[in-house]
Amino acid sequence: MNQSIEDQIERLQAGGIIDMHFDLPMDLYEKRQRRDVLETEFLPEFESGNVSVVGAAIYIEDRYLPEAGLRIALDQIARLYAETATSDRFAICKSFHEIQAAREAGKIAFLITMEGVEPLGTDLNQLRVFYELGVRSIGLTHARTNAAGHGGVFAASGSPTEGLTPFGREVVRECEALGIIIDLAHINPAGFQEILSISTKPPIVSHTNVRRYYDIDRNISDEQIKLIGERHGVIGANSILVSPQEEESTLDHYVDHIEHIVNLIGIDSVGIGFDFFEFIYRQWPESRQKELAAKLTTPHFIPDLKNHSQARNLTRKLIERGFSDEQIEKIMRGNWIRIFSEWL
Ligand SMILES: [Zn+2]
Repeated sequence: MNQSIEDQIERLQAGGIIDMHFDLPMDLYEKRQRRDVLETEFLPEFESGNVSVVGAAIYIEDRYLPEAGLRIALDQIARLYAETATSDRFAICKSFHEIQAAREAGKIAFLITMEGVEPLGTDLNQLRVFYELGVRSIGLTHARTNAAGHGGVFAASGSPTEGLTPFGREVVRECEALGIIIDLAHINPAGFQEILSISTKPPIVSHTNVRRYYDIDRNISDEQIKLIGERHGVIGANSILVSPQEEESTLDHYVDHIEHIVNLIGIDSVGIGFDFFEFIYRQWPESRQKELAAKLTTPHFIPDLKNHSQARNLTRKLIERGFSDEQIEKIMRGNWIRIFSEWL
């Protein structure tokens, strides 16, 4: 019996896991004095978790803004390219075809994403430059306000009530025209509505949790979930904001978030956006951890789902919770693959 579950996990893992949100370029930039960081620090975890596609998110920390936003974004992309070039295990992919080719060759595909458009300043031309560099998914904001719009706050209410700025609307339209997936993670509720009203392709929410279990504007409500479902979009379940309570931040409760989305809009609209962040958080001095708690929240990491090497714990849990192989494959990869095929 046990052996048959292990075999089932192995079979499901073999097709690969797609994680649409990982703060990798930021960490590569912080470790820019070192070489082979990807191969020595990340590859073992990706491999033991059978990770096949990673949304590698450009993100600019507050301390670099506004002056250095563009430069740090370019440096993050440069480090990702430099590190990828020294290994035959990775490929930066710019199209659906390239993602499929990387998967077939057994390489780990990176899709460069951008979390907050601060690097663009207010210049739409820069969007074209980042597109040429390989950025294929963009969320307009993190938790803060920028030239495009406002992020949702880490509280049950109190986000700015305005939607996008004229620049934000231009970015959305240009993303659709270029073929950059529009990501609704973090955007405030008014911005969420507005993006849906001016875009036509299936939207994604790369990494979020459901407000039913963690009621903050940064997460998504049942109504928002239904809107994503109506548009055949995909929501990536985030492993960090599973519960405001540490003791409730468990793998089982993570699956509750997945199950809630499935119950509302079906199995074709849920994927993975782990947002593994513990490896960065633990490098920070306590003062910085406190700063994060004051500004946003204290993250509660799931003990047996803290990094990619533990991804198979999720597969096991989904089996235990009664998901079929076909359903698990959709959650692990199939639904994101569909989004890539429709956008890229
Ligand atoms: Zn985020």
